[in-house]
Amino acid sequence: MIRSMIVGSLPRPAWLAAPGGVFAKPATPAGATRREAEDDAVRLAVRAQIDAGLDVVTDGEQRRRHYIWGFCEGLTGIDFTRSERVRARGGRYQADTPGPIVTGPVRRPHPVLLDALKATIAVSDRPVKVTLPGPMTVVDTLADRHYGDRRRFAFEMARVLNDEACELAEAGAAIIQFDEPCFNIYLDEVDEWGIDALQMAADGVRSTRAVHICYGYGVPVVLAWKNHNTDWSHYHRTLPLLAGSTIDQISIELAASGVDPAVVALAGDKEIAAGVIDVGTDDVETPEIVAKRLSAVAAHMSTDRLWASTDCGLVPRPRAVAEAKMRALAAGVALVNLS
Ligand code: ZN
Repeated sequence: MIRSMIVGSLPRPAWLAAPGGVFAKPATPAGATRREAEDDAVRLAVRAQIDAGLDVVTDGEQRRRHYIWGFCEGLTGIDFTRSERVRARGGRYQADTPGPIVTGPVRRPHPVLLDALKATIAVSDRPVKVTLPGPMTVVDTLADRHYGDRRRFAFEMARVLNDEACELAEAGAAIIQFDEPCFNIYLDEVDEWGIDALQMAADGVRSTRAVHICYGYGVPVVLAWKNHNTDWSHYHRTLPLLAGSTIDQISIELAASGVDPAVVALAGDKEIAAGVIDVGTDDVETPEIVAKRLSAVAAHMSTDRLWASTDCGLVPRPRAVAEAKMRALAAGVALVNLS
């Protein structure tokens, strides 16, 4: 039986963020009022996933202003009051972006997402997944003035992430997912040290250990790149590497890319979370389209290792669209499971 879940994020209610954006605009409420607003948003996000019929839920990343900053802001050694232009993602989507500055050793003085996980578990009767930014992606996004070497910084970051991931697993997270969009960009570095850093982050984590590898959010700069890109061979290089790793589950995007679904055969015996929902458009898939996309994947692997998922986070979409896409996802899975 194929199971279902989203990658991670959902759009926030208007009381937490301006609609349509990836970043939560600093909100009107603050302090205890903000905490209450976030609790309400999480409750609704979890409810929407359960009502849609998904098997595993997330908190929709409702408490985070961004999937990377939501974790990194809990660390020391990074100056968020200043930034430098960084050639993030190899300049694929934008020439450069502002990156907060790494000024000293990166440390985690206390758990970052633990309280949020406990609060999510308390309002969910389904298993809960937590997402963390992967070490390579964090390194690629910050302006490093301390380590001077991407690999060295990534291993240090992996140790910090590992402490967090172990605690989240002990607290009951069913899946810990590391988001590594950079695995679709720096293919040589993935081979040289990216997989090692990822395994270090996941080492000893007693839950399903997952990695999410995508072509980015469904936002205009990414969609523009997708429109003229012709090389979709990245997973052909990374999946065989991950097949021999300690990672249990690999999340890839298939709906809105030119990736051949047959590539899943290269993932060995790993679980695959296949993106069968396009997160770059407000057009809602029919269950039949979802089922067709899933069947194209299922032809190349055993369905007991297959999850149906979204291509990436749903945060840039309107709430009603995101909810309709989740219902289409679950309905499409049901069509395939019943056939
Ligand atoms: Zn993604």
